[in-house]
Amino acid sequence: MSQCNLCNNLRKKSEDDVRLAFDFVPSELNRSAEAKCPACNVILAGILQSEDGWTLAGDITHIYVFALAKNEDSLSLELYFRDDRPKVVLEFYRRERNELLSSGNVNWTAIKPKSPLSGHPLSPTGMKWLGTRLDVCKKKHLSCQYHAKPNLPKRTLSFRVSENGKADVKVVENISQPGRYIALSHCWGSSPLCALDGKTISQFGISIPWSRLPKTFQDAILFSAKLGVNHIWIDALCIVQDNPDDWERESAKMADIYQNSFLTLAATASSNGMGGCFSDAKTDAPSEHELTGLQSHIGLDRIVVRTKLQHWTWPPSKVSMKLHPLLQRGWAFQERILSPRVLHFCKDELVWECREESVCECGSLPALSETKKQSYLPRNETALRRAFGRKTWRRAFGKIKITMFRRNKISPKQRGLSRIAALLPRKHHSHNRIVYQEEASNVTNPEKLDAAENWHRVIEQYSSLSLTKQTDRLPALSGLAIRSSPVLGEYLAGLWKHSFISDLLWRINKLEHDIVRPTEYIAPSWSWASVAGPVSFWPEPDTRLIEGTSGERFWYQARSALIRRANASRFTANVKASRLNPYGKVSSATLYVHGYIQPARLQYVSTRVGGTWGNTTSLVESVPLKYELDFIFPEEGYGPSIELPFFADYVLQAKGPLRIPHNDQLHLLLIHPYICLVLKSLDENLKIFRRIGIIRQPVALVSEYGFDWMKSSVESDIQIL
Ligand SMILES: [Zn+2]
Ligand SMILES: [Zn+2]
Ligand SMILES: [Zn+2]
Repeated sequence: MSQCNLCNNLRKKSEDDVRLAFDFVPSELNRSAEAKCPACNVILAGILQSEDGWTLAGDITHIYVFALAKNEDSLSLELYFRDDRPKVVLEFYRRERNELLSSGNVNWTAIKPKSPLSGHPLSPTGMKWLGTRLDVCKKKHLSCQYHAKPNLPKRTLSFRVSENGKADVKVVENISQPGRYIALSHCWGSSPLCALDGKTISQFGISIPWSRLPKTFQDAILFSAKLGVNHIWIDALCIVQDNPDDWERESAKMADIYQNSFLTLAATASSNGMGGCFSDAKTDAPSEHELTGLQSHIGLDRIVVRTKLQHWTWPPSKVSMKLHPLLQRGWAFQERILSPRVLHFCKDELVWECREESVCECGSLPALSETKKQSYLPRNETALRRAFGRKTWRRAFGKIKITMFRRNKISPKQRGLSRIAALLPRKHHSHNRIVYQEEASNVTNPEKLDAAENWHRVIEQYSSLSLTKQTDRLPALSGLAIRSSPVLGEYLAGLWKHSFISDLLWRINKLEHDIVRPTEYIAPSWSWASVAGPVSFWPEPDTRLIEGTSGERFWYQARSALIRRANASRFTANVKASRLNPYGKVSSATLYVHGYIQPARLQYVSTRVGGTWGNTTSLVESVPLKYELDFIFPEEGYGPSIELPFFADYVLQAKGPLRIPHNDQLHLLLIHPYICLVLKSLDENLKIFRRIGIIRQPVALVSEYGFDWMKSSVESDIQIL
């Protein structure tokens, strides 16, 4: 076969290329197909058979082709239109063929074997696909905890489907009764749903009228019946919504409810109860075309073309958010992680997730491969991480009690937590890690370290999700907290005693106008739960500061002083949590700290706009959402003052009781040689403070200038609310 100039016979041009990619205009494709290039004929036939209200000749300006990038990707085409219609993306795949019959004249690795779509979850193809998933999970997956008959939750919906395709449904109370049940994960939406409350409880115990059930509930019930399971747990109908005690008691049990469910159905594509799990229309499979008339080019290979499906992404793109509203909801987060098996009803296909595999019907769900995980690592951290492997560092650690651990294989009993990690993009991939350790954070073994790090990844993802009620911020995570507690110890309003200092190192990465600290009490200011916005954690304290023992005397002194002061800090937390769910709502909390504190002044950052030297009317305009701290050291040689930017926890100039004006006095509490909490005093005499931000000083200030940023600090005992 001669080499095709257009498609390179679907091979990478060089082995080093990350993928095969090329683009062309329709006439080029036609020429290449006429010259009898088999691949170009396949591409042309695929486009022609996909024409749907448009034509290749009349509407398409150019075509972009890519393949061989990721394992799950098969040959894909992006078609761009003359007008402003959005691009069409096509995917080619190969049906498994009978090897003996194949003429084998094409052997394209760019076109992968995949499966056809079922088109509808209730179709025989859909049920068969799910049956295979369940079977593999039950027989082969050791960590998926397939309980044949766990105890049923306190309440479930029991049902029987009748001839007319509806079901007789009622709420039943189960007392230590074993049985299989299905759990539902869904978006409530803003419109009122059918709910269990003081008014409906007696009627719903006899029967819930079918027409009163939102479509999502109806679909979930019909689907469960099809699977032969006659109990379903739906939060809205299995918790008495207007009874705070019942709500707290049952929400504390969610870890068990989702963990013991036979299967969790997720109405992933639906933004409210009316959206349903799937469409009512008796749909045929979505349009897929098996290419015909190509025998002379491809022998007996069976190649199919279809519109490429879109999958969820992390961080979520706008499209991903719109297609998968459930994945943006705070409550659904732990439901997904706690469930051993989840079946997602997406717009065009089913997606299966269990502890050992995530697969979709079309076979293109992006895997969180090692390379992908690494891509989340900020570039500037890579060098830092490489440095962590250096043996010489260990010698320097004695002073600050930093211990280096080797990452261990996760033991089976930790699999619950490793599943949490498996769902999350991992920021860390190094095998060595360093933890800043002192009495308040008594992290002493690798398992705890892994769990603490996983917890940070959990919070980073969870904090970016939406909650209708801000007060649910801790309760909607309580199931995961309960599951983590055997490893991480005492739970302190979203933080853990075992990893307390590293848990304090959260920050708002990018302050936006809508990031506020609710005035309604949700959590203490030192907890990430006190702000409504996505947070992230510093991976682990940067230890460059303490490398080596030599160096200029002035910076050696500055460094030693900072280490000594940071080591002096002691923390004790007192948290008042809900009686019925100690991992849920918090009513008050105080952090008692012994440590070094120092005043600094808040500066709203401003910039000079217009005006020139000598022009007294030049304008100064404030830069929104940017703040600095002003350190004043009158007797030092740094100049009159030094300003350092910091991460504010919320929009400080927002009107309300939490507003902090420009030039206000703040305080810094040293918690690591180069990290301070930024505090606002609430009571000078009683030394009571509130956290409003966090600051990390550039290491170079110490290593190059010997700058001791906590020079004026004094040892104190304070409280942070
Ligand atoms: Zn070609
Ligand atoms: Zn499984
Ligand atoms: Zn898919």
